[in-house]
Amino acid sequence: MTGAKPHELTAEDLATYLSWWQASGMVEGVSDTPRDWFAAEPRPAASPSPARPQPATLPAVAKSDQNHHRPMTVAAPSQTSHAARQTAAKALNLDELRAALEAFDGCGLKATAKSLCFYRGAATAELMLIGEAPGRDEDLAGKPFVGRAGQLLDKMLAAIGIDETKVHIANTVYWRPPGNRTPSVEETTACQPFLERQMELVAPKIIVLLGGVAAKQVLGLSDGILKLRGKWRSVTVGERKVAALATLHPAYLLRTPAAKRQAWQDLLLIAQALAGQPK
Ligand code: URA
Repeated sequence: MTGAKPHELTAEDLATYLSWWQASGMVEGVSDTPRDWFAAEPRPAASPSPARPQPATLPAVAKSDQNHHRPMTVAAPSQTSHAARQTAAKALNLDELRAALEAFDGCGLKATAKSLCFYRGAATAELMLIGEAPGRDEDLAGKPFVGRAGQLLDKMLAAIGIDETKVHIANTVYWRPPGNRTPSVEETTACQPFLERQMELVAPKIIVLLGGVAAKQVLGLSDGILKLRGKWRSVTVGERKVAALATLHPAYLLRTPAAKRQAWQDLLLIAQALAGQPK
């Protein structure tokens, strides 16, 4: 800052702040009414923290304070997973599962996201990839992995002869977490019955978990991704056991190019398994 008083910010200062906030992931508005946070006025008293979820229903997190208003009541976790499991089980194909997700209000992320990001690629495929959560580009497009990480993922898949017609790509949650934060356990758990049904309907031969969040969620293991990656495991999908491999998330590879070597080893394992070689 140049020493100007906060309320004398220039348009240039504001543009700098905005780009810094955006780069830091602060992209969600908190109110419909603009407010000058720099004005020297008393801060409003902090509102009491909301009561912990009761078995009945709890309001979606401060929905009335958020930018994208969507009247929504989030059911308590036990209710949600039971109802979600029943709804998801009734879906006989991916179109029905999408419709069930559109009607589902058990995951709070839906209230702030612009779109449902269901899947990208083939409806049924030998290879199913599961990432963490949609980001900004995915939220705008309504499809998983279309941003920079997705472009790297596509290149990695192309290196083993796989394009969108041969793979089904999804995430552990179907809506973008505000500011691209990691989805909470409540959020991944709320979406899990739909993801499990999706795995059944896609009927893959191999499931690949991209990054620690997906690996933990689907394998139920708590080790870090660097420990979990590169080893074949098995997940139960409906009545079947399906081979599953955890690998590094493409966003991590963008930040840590040296780790591409490990990712390449994992890609070769995937290519071999798809070619029918024993795991
Ligand atoms: N990262 C993910 O985990 N999923 C996406 O869809 C995009 C980026």
